[in-house]
Amino acid sequence: MEKMIEIKNLHVQFSTYGGQVQAVRGVSFDLHKGETLAIVGESGCGKSVTSQSIMRLIPTPPGRITSGSILFKGQDLTKLSEKKMRDIRGADISMIFQDPMTALNPTLRVGEQIAENIMQHENISKEKAKEKAKEKAFEMLELVGIPNPKERLKQYPHEFSGGTRQRIVIAMALICNPEVLIADEPTTALDVTIQAQILELFKDIQQKTDVSIVLITHDLGVVAQVADRVAVMYAGKIVEIGTRRDIFYTPQHPYTKGLLRSVPRLDLYESELVPIAGSPPDLFAPPSGCSFAPRCPYVMEVCDRMYPVSTKLKESHQVHCWLQDERAQKFVTTIS
Ligand code: SF4
Repeated sequence: MEKMIEIKNLHVQFSTYGGQVQAVRGVSFDLHKGETLAIVGESGCGKSVTSQSIMRLIPTPPGRITSGSILFKGQDLTKLSEKKMRDIRGADISMIFQDPMTALNPTLRVGEQIAENIMQHENISKEKAKEKAKEKAFEMLELVGIPNPKERLKQYPHEFSGGTRQRIVIAMALICNPEVLIADEPTTALDVTIQAQILELFKDIQQKTDVSIVLITHDLGVVAQVADRVAVMYAGKIVEIGTRRDIFYTPQHPYTKGLLRSVPRLDLYESELVPIAGSPPDLFAPPSGCSFAPRCPYVMEVCDRMYPVSTKLKESHQVHCWLQDERAQKFVTTIS
């Protein structure tokens, strides 16, 4: 399958008064053409920092990509000039954020904002961009399921509901036919019914455009609906990656299992939900062994000493856990 993005051993850190926060610690994954890869994990696990690194939107300073590479069409995005990144953003790789109002200018009509997007990436005059925007905007608003596009283009963002605003933001992100779309918690601010509609929209758009999507979310319900593959992040690292089926039916990392047990389900009473006890480690001084060790019910002596290497369970499914590594046997002294 064609790789759209290849991330290799990415490290990102933030300088603060308290020291260096190691927000992303050696993340590697590929994004294939036409797939949706969900990155899941608790707040602060590094999933948003990873996605912002692809767009080079990490505020610098205090943030900094310290090592690793992000390959897109053979070029390493970590090494490109800001000018080249501006050309790529929106045109080749687009991003959608949680709150549509942060992406929309409340003082400009929606049609003008779409025209601006086109002008930024195509070397044409304002007048030509306006004409082109009209044509393109009809097409895009239709694609994202907004009726009466002609009238709607003359309206301001506050005249739309939250769900429709998010549809407009998606339309703006797709206006230049990007090959990769990064959606950071795109449905978190929406109610459940609208959320379902937006997720349907993502699937529909992907079928029509073959765009590759990186979906950042903490919501496993969202993942179950749209992801082809899932990367589970914990304390700045990917601890397990596999197809949706691998992760939901045969999860192997204790953290993934814990996440799945803590999700409300129709067949379970609230009292049967099991939250993961404890909290993630301090990323000012991350442990050299497994970061999940203090919360893991299966922790072994080796876990605190060495970080587990990746074990390939099958072609699609990899996990970082000593339980899956037969070399751990010689160290096993289970603490229970
Ligand atoms: Fe638990 Fe050890 Fe696996 Fe970490 S490596 S998740 S501590 S068993």
